[in-house]
Amino acid sequence: MTEVYDLHCHSTASDGALSPENVVLRAQHQGVTTLALTDHDTVAGLATAQATADKIGLQLIPGIELSANWQKHCLHIVGLGIDPSYKPLVEITDFLQNTRYERAEKMAAKLEKKRIPGALAAVKAAAGEGMITRTHFADFLLSQHHVDTQQEAFDRYLGQGKSAYVPTIWPELADVVKWITGAGGVAVIAHPLRYKLSANWMKRLLTEFKSFGGQGIEVITSRINQDEIRLIANYAQNYELVGSVGSDFHNENNPYVELGRIAQLPPSITPVWSLL
Ligand code: AMP
Ligand code: MN
Ligand code: MN
Ligand code: MN
Repeated sequence: MTEVYDLHCHSTASDGALSPENVVLRAQHQGVTTLALTDHDTVAGLATAQATADKIGLQLIPGIELSANWQKHCLHIVGLGIDPSYKPLVEITDFLQNTRYERAEKMAAKLEKKRIPGALAAVKAAAGEGMITRTHFADFLLSQHHVDTQQEAFDRYLGQGKSAYVPTIWPELADVVKWITGAGGVAVIAHPLRYKLSANWMKRLLTEFKSFGGQGIEVITSRINQDEIRLIANYAQNYELVGSVGSDFHNENNPYVELGRIAQLPPSITPVWSLL
């Protein structure tokens, strides 16, 4: 049987639409044989996901997607093969839950000033025990017909510099990498082209990331073309980083972002699973 890896996705523990159990079931249905659940700033979904994976015989890699500050950019760092009980990691996720809650209060207040009341109650209800994210705000704005698409919610209200945007102080990249490696995991730069860094800034990032102990880069994500894959693969080779693959699946409504529906890692790249 051929192995199918998907090492980046979300559940209701953060901004995914499916419970951890249903993410695992759907992954198997889509032909995935090894899955990493990587919720934003939380490990809360991992125990349920693991129990489900054990039951159906799917390989689960415990993961997380941590938000990190680097040179005023918010980067996303995927941690793969982490021990979810590693104390510094547990402590930072607790802290970030609070950070996210306080950010949500401020975002809701900004929306209220724009005569859009009720956001805080709605995102709290939608997130439940999970992390509150801007995706929850986008869904709220959609449901109240303030916007027609999730993208429009980010373009008009939630994106950087827009009317409901609240700058957040995320942990420093050096610390994020340290927590992931301390937890026994491999740190991977998620969707590296989404930060719109110039080639020079990208080189600075990769040099520093490596010096902090980072080992991987996501070469394959959803909605990526062959030129982009080649570009990231070159970075991986030049900086001796292993390559990861992940759909960044959030919900069942987007056929372009589906569990397991991603391109192959170029054969020249050392796969991240060689370290897991
Ligand atoms: P947060 O970590 O709370 O700032 O939320 C970030 C999440 O919002 C990302 O992980 C994406 O799932 C989602 N997101 C960010 N930008 C966009 C966008 N332009 N369109 C749709 N979703 C977005
Ligand atoms: Mn997300
Ligand atoms: Mn991300
Ligand atoms: Mn993600």
